[in-house]
Amino acid sequence: MNDFPVEAFRDVLRAWFREHARDLPWRRSRDPYRVWVSEVMLQQTRVETVRAYYERFVRRFPDVEALAAAELTEVLRYWQGLGYYRRARHLHAAARRIVRDRGGRWPQTVQEWLALPGVGPYMARAVVSIAFGVPTGVVDGNVRRVLARLMAVERPGRRDLQAWADALVDPRDPGTFNQAMMELGATVCTPVRPRCGDCPVRVFCQGLSTGSPDRFPTPASGPAPPEERWWVILWSHRDRWLLGHKRDGLLQDMWLFPMWPERTGDVAADLLEPWSRQGLRVAATVLRVLGPVVHAFTHRRWRMRPVWIPWPDGWAPPTVDELMASTEMFRSWQWFPQAYLRRIPIPRAHRKVLAALARPALRPMGREV
Ligand code: SF4
Repeated sequence: MNDFPVEAFRDVLRAWFREHARDLPWRRSRDPYRVWVSEVMLQQTRVETVRAYYERFVRRFPDVEALAAAELTEVLRYWQGLGYYRRARHLHAAARRIVRDRGGRWPQTVQEWLALPGVGPYMARAVVSIAFGVPTGVVDGNVRRVLARLMAVERPGRRDLQAWADALVDPRDPGTFNQAMMELGATVCTPVRPRCGDCPVRVFCQGLSTGSPDRFPTPASGPAPPEERWWVILWSHRDRWLLGHKRDGLLQDMWLFPMWPERTGDVAADLLEPWSRQGLRVAATVLRVLGPVVHAFTHRRWRMRPVWIPWPDGWAPPTVDELMASTEMFRSWQWFPQAYLRRIPIPRAHRKVLAALARPALRPMGREV
């Protein structure tokens, strides 16, 4: 890095960003709250998806005080569809900590940000550089790729990447520099077929001079995410649906249709018999088994078999005690009117299951048991 023309690099990158930066709503402000919310939403999520969620979210929760004062359920509802709901829970918890423990005073250093729930090194550096002008480089997936290509390194280590980013960052305006690096990676130095002919920093790029810049960095290959198989129970009674409040782990605090592991693929063996032993008696004749629905998370995949149980009038629906005895996954249960389902946080995976009920190809296929 010693003989790298740092000043010239900063100048061309700054000039390019001034002309080519996309007009994104969170770039119109350096308010730490807005910078922070946008960075949390942008983790693992595409810019175009975040745009609409961000505007709706900051309209409802315009500052950290409003977010801290809100109920978690409402925050999750505004997050619904963005996925990775742990981010929303952490955002809410951190807002409360800023308001209650710090009297609304913003953390201004990387170390202070790292002490908040859900904040890692990337986010801490991004927020302090953009909102407070702290001269620190940020390394997200896009910046990692740009740096690996600039330096022509196949497997750059985390420390090297951070050292390069810190050496390059422009101390006069680190926030703009960091955003420009991320923008370059997102729009020009793309994972496949980088547009080197349009790249403002091509004269500095050692990867380009090798003739095949896209071989940097070497893609990490890992095992396919494991698949989990679930029965998802769509229990309906008149126009109401039964949902459980997820106790912990993935999708904690969201409302889900009740789930049980699919072990044998046989409804009687996986559901009816264990339920019966717990005192929850369901007649096989009321079940309708639908075709599978798949949802991919980052680290796992759910293959869900929806089972529709239109609870007949005149039958007593299951009691909370019976349900609690049959699974520990949920901390409480509730029957929600159909119209109310839009107003509670239900993850996308389970909205897909509900939608399956309406798809002609997946209409009840008759009784499987
Ligand atoms: Fe990426 Fe090509 Fe620019 Fe190098 S020249 S930084 S490989 S777009």
